[in-house]
Amino acid sequence: MKYTVNDIAAITNAEIIGDKDLIIKNIAFDSRIIYAIKNTAFIAINTKKNSGEKFIESAVDRGIKVIISEHHYPQFENITWIIVENAVQFLQKLAKYHSEHSDLKSIGITGSNGKTILKEWIYQCLWNEFPTVKSPKSFNSQIGLPLSLLQINKCHKLGIFEVGISMPNEMETLENMFHPQIGLLTHIGTAHAANFSSEEELINEKIKLFKDSEVIIYNGDNLLVDKKIKELYSSKKLITYGFQKNNDVFVKTNVKDENIVVKYFEEEISFPVHQRDEATLSNALALITVLKELNISNESIIEKINALKAVEMRLEAIEGIKNNIIINDSFNLDLDSLKTALQFLNEYKKSKKSLVLTDIFDVNSNSKELYEEVSELVNEQKFDSVFLIGEEITQFRELFKSNTFTFINTKELIDSKHVTEIENQIILLKGARKFEIEKLKDLLELRKHDTVLEINLNAILHNINYHKSLLKPSTKMMAMVKANAYGLGSYEISEFLQHHHIDYLGVAFADEGVELRKKGITTPIVVMNPEQHSYDTIIQYNLEPEIYSFRVLELFYEAAQKSGHTKEYPIHIKLETGMHRLGFKENELDDLIQTLHHKNLRVQSIFSHLSSSDVPEEREFTLKQLETFSKNSSYLIENIGYQPMRHILNSSGITNYTEHQYDMVRIGIGMLGESPTPEIQKQLRSSVSFKTVISQISMVENGESVGYSRKYKTNHLTKIATIPVGYADGIPRLIGNLVGNVGVNKTLAPIVGNICMDMMMINVDEVQNVKEGDKVTIFNAKPSLKEFAGYCKTITYEVLTSISPRVKRIYIKD
Ligand SMILES: *Cc1c(COP(=O)(O)O)cnc(C)c1O
Repeated sequence: MKYTVNDIAAITNAEIIGDKDLIIKNIAFDSRIIYAIKNTAFIAINTKKNSGEKFIESAVDRGIKVIISEHHYPQFENITWIIVENAVQFLQKLAKYHSEHSDLKSIGITGSNGKTILKEWIYQCLWNEFPTVKSPKSFNSQIGLPLSLLQINKCHKLGIFEVGISMPNEMETLENMFHPQIGLLTHIGTAHAANFSSEEELINEKIKLFKDSEVIIYNGDNLLVDKKIKELYSSKKLITYGFQKNNDVFVKTNVKDENIVVKYFEEEISFPVHQRDEATLSNALALITVLKELNISNESIIEKINALKAVEMRLEAIEGIKNNIIINDSFNLDLDSLKTALQFLNEYKKSKKSLVLTDIFDVNSNSKELYEEVSELVNEQKFDSVFLIGEEITQFRELFKSNTFTFINTKELIDSKHVTEIENQIILLKGARKFEIEKLKDLLELRKHDTVLEINLNAILHNINYHKSLLKPSTKMMAMVKANAYGLGSYEISEFLQHHHIDYLGVAFADEGVELRKKGITTPIVVMNPEQHSYDTIIQYNLEPEIYSFRVLELFYEAAQKSGHTKEYPIHIKLETGMHRLGFKENELDDLIQTLHHKNLRVQSIFSHLSSSDVPEEREFTLKQLETFSKNSSYLIENIGYQPMRHILNSSGITNYTEHQYDMVRIGIGMLGESPTPEIQKQLRSSVSFKTVISQISMVENGESVGYSRKYKTNHLTKIATIPVGYADGIPRLIGNLVGNVGVNKTLAPIVGNICMDMMMINVDEVQNVKEGDKVTIFNAKPSLKEFAGYCKTITYEVLTSISPRVKRIYIKD
């Protein structure tokens, strides 16, 4: 889009304060992921949970000059305001105008499952046929859809948008701003059925999207859907697909055959399919129907389907050599994905950064316009160095303002040795497939093993939000990132949590807090076990100690005095309530009150720790601990004359004793997706997977032995695989010899023989189609972390913290 402030106000009946002539090309609604400042307006959206207006300040700090808001805040200078009655309705009005004034062919996808996959597939098949715009990620809601529609530019010929609803009567608003010519209804499932009284009501709501469509493509296996659409839309062109033979499009052959034959009306189209689960096949049928409808030839359809990539658009962040962070994103390269990568980059606080960027394949605009837009985006990020690869992009070198180097191919860049000299930076690798910039990644990454611990940051956020949903909105949350964040990497996790506004971080020792501060973490940090030689460091790095005894109180106070700290230093008082580890006991409270009165310290919080919140049989004991805490903390508060925060719940405390949340809770294992309660476990997402690949497969003759000390002997010709992970990586030796299993191609394979230092052997007789180089799951889904901990006869906490530092940690976001 491209409008002046004046246009926008006229379209939406809004009021302007400031410069009417500024040009707006972008609207950002999340102040944290603004990737471009120029021509971007920030919209403050107020929701039930959150006021977007709180973030105006940070948007202004980022350099935004135009704010769209329901209220005017005159304290911000040199800002142009578009004052609206209701921000969401404003967006919808603008999007309606915008989409009605563009003349592209549009596809609207709705349904319960498969919307995002189908959208990405259609896009992958069509982006090089027509200039195409699509919803970013799964932006499909009351706010996501208008933001997606506003991305339509003059050059676009095709638009693919997801439309999602979760409540009755939502579709009308969405259809009002977007009337797709081709309507596509995927599978109707039970995903959102909760808010609807019946499946019929849900279907009726969804198909409102097709009111003005010319063609409706839908899964005809659902008889109710078929009936409803035929009743309402008999005058439109209707095409059904599915597994039943009475559909217009269906799978003809037996699913076991090598090739799949799809019957499309009178025609047959045959092609190889690798994945044959029902959901994939059903999506493939919908895809074929859309492509046929757009007049793509059969040969071309087969070619395009063969080239489809798994939709796992993900960015990975890896620790690099020379203290760099490498962000690798070589999935695909178009303007959209460049924007997403720049957003991701902005979440890191490293002050210096470099970019490796290849030719961009984008038919949406001519190359001059395209690279002008790209260079503008890139220039705003203020990279220290930019490395351009490719015959096309290098012709536009003059547009890039940073220190810019050009290369014809990736090999030339590698040979130049420029990138391997970079130190202490964040390096974004963004390249189209054909340039193979993953070679550069191999060169730059610190640990080069096939064995990795993969941490899914989105899953962690989901788990945090799940726990938050159980709490009052005002309850604060401390994330425990002690012991390297349970082995996952304390900086990476803390950086991510800080970005998502966690209130406090908790570490065990001062050193752990210092490391976080040195890398730029500014969130308050509590040190749970402040050792006496570390008090000066604690003060120097603005960490907050747990004070659990008079000895610690006196010594810490002395250190604070010596440091010349004039303000009251924040401390956290730990009460002993039954764990018998650390803390002040009931009979010490009067002395504690007296001592605190004489000291220049500020009690920031009073807390305790539950010993058995995860043990249902110890409920009575836990309630007693909670009662002791309530009594003793109240007594302290009455007598020190002010009201510090209180907190006692850990992860299973949050789920089992929610009503004792006080002012804050301390989450640990729960944020990683583990709960001892099966019902809670179902709501969480596993965030850690430990993986490797098969190094070698051997057929071992009957009666031969495998591994050290000949502890395993075959009793028939046996297929044995060797994997490059051993007890030095943190796999306990006691799970060898048929105690533990690992997952290969979704099958459990038993560990045979003794586990070696760096390797172990597994029996893969039962695993179908197994070959060298195949992925092996040590834990994630099959076996799960819990099952793996079971083999090891320990708890998930110990498994995670035992994984050796030599195992590469990869952080992904999907
Ligand atoms: C580790 C720790 C937690 C978190 O415990 P989880 O069981 O992982 O949720 C909470 N409070 C304190 C004091 C801790 O040491």
